[in-house]
Order: sequence, then C-alpha cells, then structure tokens
Amino acid sequence: MTQSHSAGPARRAATSGTGPAPSPTQGGAALRDAVWTAAALAARLPADAWEVEAVSRRYRLRVPRPYLDLVAEPGDPIWRQSVPARAELEEAHLAEDPLAEDAPHNAPVPHLSHRYPDRALLLVTDLCPMFCRFCMRKRKTLRGAAIDTATVERAIAHIRATPAIREVIVSGGDPLMLPDARLDALLGELRAVPHVEVLRVHTRMPCVEPRRVTAALARMLARHRPLFVGVHFNHPRELTPAAGRALALLADAGLPLHSQTVLLNGVNDDARVLADLFRGLLRWRVHPYYLHHADLIPGTAHFRTSIQRGLGIVDELRREAPELAMLHYVLDTPGGGGKVPLTWPRPQGEPPAGPTRSGCADPARRR
Ligand code: SF4
Repeated sequence: MTQSHSAGPARRAATSGTGPAPSPTQGGAALRDAVWTAAALAARLPADAWEVEAVSRRYRLRVPRPYLDLVAEPGDPIWRQSVPARAELEEAHLAEDPLAEDAPHNAPVPHLSHRYPDRALLLVTDLCPMFCRFCMRKRKTLRGAAIDTATVERAIAHIRATPAIREVIVSGGDPLMLPDARLDALLGELRAVPHVEVLRVHTRMPCVEPRRVTAALARMLARHRPLFVGVHFNHPRELTPAAGRALALLADAGLPLHSQTVLLNGVNDDARVLADLFRGLLRWRVHPYYLHHADLIPGTAHFRTSIQRGLGIVDELRREAPELAMLHYVLDTPGGGGKVPLTWPRPQGEPPAGPTRSGCADPARRR
C-alpha cells in the first residue's frame, strides 16, 4: 500500500458521479455501522489496541465503517483523522476552550455561542458520526457534553428573545445525528422566529457517513429554506461515490452547499492535495468556503502547521486551484475575538486586512 497525494479513488469518484442509492430507511440505521471500541478497531486495522484504549479513555472513539474502509495504510490521511494517537494525551497545560466559546460573554446560555451581533451558533448535540481526532470542540464532542433537549430549548428561547440574531448556525456535534423528526421540529421552531432570516446546518455526515443523507432528509431540510448546508471535507480521498450521491441529494433539493476544511499536518498540508479536493467539491456543486488554521487545542500538536506554512500553501493554491476555490484562510483568535483572514504582512503604510464578517462556527465547529 502506498500513501498517495493524488486523488486516487477520490478522483475516480469525482468523475464517475454517484454511488448506490440508500434505501429510504437506511439513514438512521447507517449510524449503527461504526467502530467504537479499541478492540474492534484493532481487529480491523493494524492499530495498537493498548494505545487506542488509553487515548479513548480520555477522548472517545467512533469511526463509521465506510470511513474506516478508506484507510489504505497506517498513518495515512484517513487514519490520522480517525484513529486515536498517543499524542492526544500531551499538552495537558493548554486551555480546552481557547476561543472562550463557553465564557459567559460569548455563551449567554449553555451551548449557544453568540460572538457576532447578528448570528448565533446553536449546539444541538454532542454526538458525531465520527469523533475526529483534531476536533476543536473535542472538550464537548470527544468527551461527551450531554447536550439535552431542555438545554436546546433554553437556547432557542434566548434566540427568540434576541431580535439582533438574524442567522442561526445549527451545529454540534453533528445535527444529523438527530432523527429526522427531531431535527425537523427544531428547525421549525427556529424558522418560526420572525427575526431569524437564515438557517445554516453544519455537518460532516456527507463525508464520513453519507448513507445518513437520504432524499427524505434533503426534502425535510429544504422545507426550512433559506437554509445553507456547510459540509466538512479535508482530503480528496473522502470524495467517494457515496459522498457524491449524498451531496447530489442535498443540491438537487435546492440547498446551497459550501465546505470547510481544516489545514492539518500530514493530511492536507499540500497545495496539490487541497486543489484536488476543491476541484472535486466544485464538481459536486459545493463551494469551498473556509480553510481553517488548526486551533491551539490540547493534544493536537501533531496536526498543527505553522501559519507561515499555511500562507505558503495558500500562495501555491492561487496557482493550482480554480478561481471559485479561492476561499478564506482564517484563524479563530484566542479569547473569542472571532475569525481573522490570514495574509502575509503588508508593506509599511498599507492598511491591514480587517476581521472577516463571514464567520461561521467550527467544522465541529465549524458547525
Ligand atoms: S469535526 Fe465535526 S464531526 Fe468531527 S468530531 Fe468535531 S464536531 Fe464531530
């Protein structure tokens, strides 16, 4: 097996269109087809069961089978994102919430982040189809924040009472972990708030468990338009036929799609890899939107690149990637200052780039 930065299967997927159709009831059932113990993981991959067990005692483990099937060799980009690594137990001195999402000035009620005047980030679950090892919100997702219905209702009450909020990003965890009926009811409650104009649902489901996306789900989401779907892909090998089909179902339902990608060492810190990814997403009607610089989260040093490296990659991308993929390379500033675009220092006298207004939550977030 070789580790390749070419699109490989993803390229074939991107050009071959779609995979087999899921049955109408397959969406929920697919979520049970996952690995969540060290022993089960070690039975499928040459992983060190002791190491996986030690890490997963602190940060829980879950990998959907279709995603696991994409692993080609130990340490490849799919492995790095999904298999617990000893390095996650390091950097215990770092703050778990460096962006101060949970600080009272940003979170007026638990699990609702209101950092920008006109939009709020609503976390509706701590569950995910996959517990990504780099997740910036791993203090909630990989450690289990137990976000319950009563908490979510309290957050919606705050949104209802705050006319300045015009846009709500529904995130988690992954909102598509909720059953269709529950998500429908929740979106309906938000849609009924007169001052909420736009809804956004952020999910990694089309990437890691595309069978969850059914025509029925897409139709339900479309009933709550204007609703934008933000998806999260990090590597062209994630562009499988099944992912293509999931994205097509959403796009065909009339839902605008945009993507977020986290710049990750050993996964996608290569302009050609990112260019392949962004071309594939565009072919599937997804607009590449954000490239996030990895946040300073405990136990993620093995994923972080330097900003200088990131800027060099973005420079190369300007030559490699199509114009429509000229997304924003952003850093979420520590302490809750919001996202800022990353650019090379300007010559003296030239004004600095200002803070972006187009913030979103994280791809855990970023949902
Ligand atoms: S990146 Fe998204 S899907 Fe992955 S663990 Fe974080 S919230 Fe869950």
